[in-house]
Amino acid sequence: MSERKSEPVIDLLCSLVRRVSITPDDAGCQLLLADRLAQLGFECETLQFNDVTNLWARRGTASPVLCFAGHTDVVPPGNEADWSSGPFEPTFIGDRLYGRGSADMKSGLAAMIIALENFLAEHPNHDGSIALLITSDEEGRARDGTLKVMAELQKREEHIDWCVLGEPSSQRQLGDIVRIGRRGSLSGMLTVRGVQGHVAYPQLADNPIRRFAPVLAELHQTAWDDGNEFFPPTSFQVVDVRAGIGAPNVTPGELSARFNFRYSTEWTHESLKEKVESIFDAHDIDYELNWHLSGEPFLTKHGKLIESVSQAVLEQAGLEPELSTGGGTSDGRFISPAGVDVVELGPVNASIHKVDEHVSVTDVIALTKMYQRIIELMLL
Ligand SMILES: [Zn+2]
Repeated sequence: MSERKSEPVIDLLCSLVRRVSITPDDAGCQLLLADRLAQLGFECETLQFNDVTNLWARRGTASPVLCFAGHTDVVPPGNEADWSSGPFEPTFIGDRLYGRGSADMKSGLAAMIIALENFLAEHPNHDGSIALLITSDEEGRARDGTLKVMAELQKREEHIDWCVLGEPSSQRQLGDIVRIGRRGSLSGMLTVRGVQGHVAYPQLADNPIRRFAPVLAELHQTAWDDGNEFFPPTSFQVVDVRAGIGAPNVTPGELSARFNFRYSTEWTHESLKEKVESIFDAHDIDYELNWHLSGEPFLTKHGKLIESVSQAVLEQAGLEPELSTGGGTSDGRFISPAGVDVVELGPVNASIHKVDEHVSVTDVIALTKMYQRIIELMLL
């Protein structure tokens, strides 16, 4: 174990875990990465938007551009007393390294840096350019991070061709799942207006619960789609409904509800909104609907990037990865719309956001080799 602890990638990972970078605080992680990158010939630029620190680093000006992306921020540890060891004190037990961010996603960042150091030592004159887009706003509001950096790059007409996101995509073993897209996420905030009244005189009131019930039933019964080759069927879930004033003899004057769609590429947010509003409009209901779009669905088409990532996984882990679009949203939603092929490959995600988050030391070393192999396959 002791010699693996001193592996450069594990050493760098420990330095990152020690920095208490609770979202959106970067806590100096990006400076540490930029230092290493500058020594490799990267031009490093800090893009500060409000309280969010972002790093854009690029080596070379040629096309195509292979970009590694990720985040230095972590979710809060929760009650530190619940942890078996300090959440920001990297702790080794057997093959495991414990610490907040060890899996999500400081091991991805450490693996990228070491993979680049190893690759550039052998191939300083590779094809194309290499870039890194690192934010400290992935676990938080995600407004001043990757979204703004992408807008800035677009303003400069700086284009990324391929992006490898180091999010923990693996489920049971390293490389078993590679994400090649994500479902979209669209939330509706609903208000239904009625007239409050005495429960014994319903003819003098207008109960918004009664108005909403058939609409809700129809929303539940609607088969939104059957999914497609890469996406599961679109799902509609109600997350909150409230009405009532707390008195047993009063019917409410207003109802509020919140629901969410996780949707496939069979829809855009516009077509989905239109469909939902047409269902409401077909009923006799006085409503107001506000929408929040977290991200459109995206899908990377089969091509050189997916092939190279699959081959690197096969060579290192001896398995064919499942190409999936499952899971929540990721910053890939902000990168893909610029016409970028985005793939996510990272360590096992079983402990992310939990107490005693950990990563396998063996996996981090193997992930480094996978990233290095991807760069070789893409840029040589
Ligand atoms: Zn993450």
